[in-house]
Amino acid sequence: MFLNKFHEVKGTLLFRLTVYYAAIFSLSSLFILFVFYFKIHTVTMQNMDDELIDEVEKYAGIMRENGIEGVKEEIDDASNAEDPNEEFFRVMTFKGDIVASTNTSTWGALDNDENLVQLQSGESLHIIQTLTIPGRKFKARMITAILSPDTILQIGDTFEDAENYLQIFRNWFLVLLIPVTALAAIAGWFMSRRALFDVENVTQTAYEISKGAFDRRVKVKDRFDEIKKLGETFNIMLDQIETLLRSMREVNDNIAHDLRSPLTRIRGIAEMTLMRESSVDNYKEMAASTIEECDRLIEMINTMLDISEVQAGINRAEIIDVDVANLVRDACELFRPIANDKKIKLSHDIPEAIIFHGDRKKLQRIVSNLLDNAIKYTPEGGSVSISATAEERKINIAFEDTGRGISERDMPHIFERFYKCDKSRSRGGVGLGLSLVKVFTEAMNGTVNVTSTVNKGSRFTVTLPQQASLEIQHS
Ligand code: ADP
Repeated sequence: MFLNKFHEVKGTLLFRLTVYYAAIFSLSSLFILFVFYFKIHTVTMQNMDDELIDEVEKYAGIMRENGIEGVKEEIDDASNAEDPNEEFFRVMTFKGDIVASTNTSTWGALDNDENLVQLQSGESLHIIQTLTIPGRKFKARMITAILSPDTILQIGDTFEDAENYLQIFRNWFLVLLIPVTALAAIAGWFMSRRALFDVENVTQTAYEISKGAFDRRVKVKDRFDEIKKLGETFNIMLDQIETLLRSMREVNDNIAHDLRSPLTRIRGIAEMTLMRESSVDNYKEMAASTIEECDRLIEMINTMLDISEVQAGINRAEIIDVDVANLVRDACELFRPIANDKKIKLSHDIPEAIIFHGDRKKLQRIVSNLLDNAIKYTPEGGSVSISATAEERKINIAFEDTGRGISERDMPHIFERFYKCDKSRSRGGVGLGLSLVKVFTEAMNGTVNVTSTVNKGSRFTVTLPQQASLEIQHS
């Protein structure tokens, strides 16, 4: 149980950051303490050597003033005053004969002919060396120096005092390191917790959203740091998801609504056919109505699929040279019978040829949808005209009608999916035509603009780059 909990905690970022922080802080402290100790050690050793040299100078002065007798006297005094284990003094000739000495019985073998030879040769005035004395805990420092032309002086001093002094430092360092590491761990824990608190906030928000609270947002603090940026980006993403979800819900509602109406009508027709005996002509009429409703449904589903494919970028575009003038003329001829039925004057003003390098099928769908709308929303006796121009590597195709126009209230919504300005009057369409026009135009890096006056007419203008790029722009 405890072990499981420990493994759980061990895996957390908070734990790891705390450990890293404590480790880095302790190692840095250790390094600083080590450098500090090394410096103290060097200075202490240097002091010892300086003291030994001072002592030699003192004895040299006595030698100069009082001769060898003065020196002997001084060594006698030292014998009485100093602990023979801590310090020794001895004077000898270059041959190694002892002239005067304190008690050196506990110092082991001190004779070193090499030193004498080196001093006699005049290479140096003194030699300082470290001695390891058998049976003793501490090493010692010894100076061998020329006292007079035929005598030399040897002074030895143990490291005991210096070592005891350094030991105090070593103990303190160890004692200090424990609270320093503990403090580093506590500080690391607090700092990591503070930094991770905001991340925890994002996680908590994500959790609440996963439970269905889509309106939840990360509380962004007024600071300029990475976490603030994370929170802001997270909130932007959530806004987008919410918008997407809302529009998906709307589309679903619309699909449900638009599928229900024709299906209800088809069901009604079938029910009536079943309920009463009727003539063959009546049955034929009912079958024709059923086919019409089914066609509407199929067209709606196909249009939705076309829009989705282009938006998802999976619609394959066949890029070729298209003569826009020809395409518009053909479309006019196709729609002329419908226009004639409504006594609408359908005209076009287009140059001989306008070459557009792009997707012919998409352009055809754009032109036929806008032409269809223009005729559909223009009352009998009105007029519809199409014009096309090419300038500055752009092609403009304008569809102008003298129809019912679009109100200011409807204008911002006409390109939305399933939006119909007047549901009773625009029975013919399902509200997908302009969405398709917009999505297809933007897929070819173009734009579509509208100007309209209620009861006077509308003008839809499609602008496309003459060399349509294949890049898909999502609406
Ligand atoms: P629909 O299938 O209903 O025609 P559209 O997406 O093509 O759907 O058009 C959306 C709405 O914009 C239509 O319901 C209609 O009210 C309005 N509209 C489109 N074109 C015109 C036009 N040329 N004149 C007036 N209203 C128009």
